[in-house]
Amino acid sequence: MKIEVLTLFPDMFSAVMSESMMWKARDRGLLDFHARDIRDFTQDKHRQVDDAPYGGGGGMILKPDVLVRTIEAVKGATDTPVILLSPQGRRLTHELATELSRLPRLILVCGRYEGVDERVRELAISDEISIGDYVLTGGELAAMVLIDAVVRLIPGVLGADGAQHRDSHADGLLEGPHYTRPPEFRGLGVPDALTSGNHAGVDRWRRRQAIKRTWQRRPDLLERADLSDADRAYLAELEAGQVD
Ligand code: SAM
Repeated sequence: MKIEVLTLFPDMFSAVMSESMMWKARDRGLLDFHARDIRDFTQDKHRQVDDAPYGGGGGMILKPDVLVRTIEAVKGATDTPVILLSPQGRRLTHELATELSRLPRLILVCGRYEGVDERVRELAISDEISIGDYVLTGGELAAMVLIDAVVRLIPGVLGADGAQHRDSHADGLLEGPHYTRPPEFRGLGVPDALTSGNHAGVDRWRRRQAIKRTWQRRPDLLERADLSDADRAYLAELEAGQVD
């Protein structure tokens, strides 16, 4: 996958994209990442990227001529999706990240200041994505969140043990609790099911814990989760207070 980010602060991406799984994805040739500086596409001697809003009021607006020129130069004659990070966009979810992880190329546009001139949206943006109902000072952190959520879903980026398929939201549920050594810590032990050596028992315990945790913390997710008859029976027991 190729991801190009259009930003006024390309250096912000250096650390995140040069460490851990993002670096491994690049090193293995699974991700081709570039941060493009919007200021490089200005044509005036002051390299101006923003201007005051028509109608007054505070803040500055990213200029449409510079931003559209940047997008068109990077996109070329392709039909690559151009996504504006925006608190007004559709919310980033596991499903949306999965959808994006299947695309060969993405262009991400990071807003700043009061945002972008509306004509950029009309002329050059194909989608708007928000990482949550709050406002950041710029789109860079949101782009990094989106990139991380998407790239870890590209086959080959994470290990082959399939653990990511049990991650929260991957199958509509939250993941259950984890334990590692030591077997006892400050008087707290490890559930017997995990140390029994019975793989089917471990799977059953994990599934039930995922259902229980989702029921406790995010019952709204259960309405859309893909539950078997056994899952539903366990959920009914939970609701009836018949299990801990
Ligand atoms: N005035 C804009 C509004 O009220 O919708 C907010 C502008 S915000 C200060 C500057 C930039 O940060 C936005 O253009 C966008 O790129 C980014 N941004 C802020 N919050 C975001 C969020 N929740 N998700 C994605 N991007 C966000």
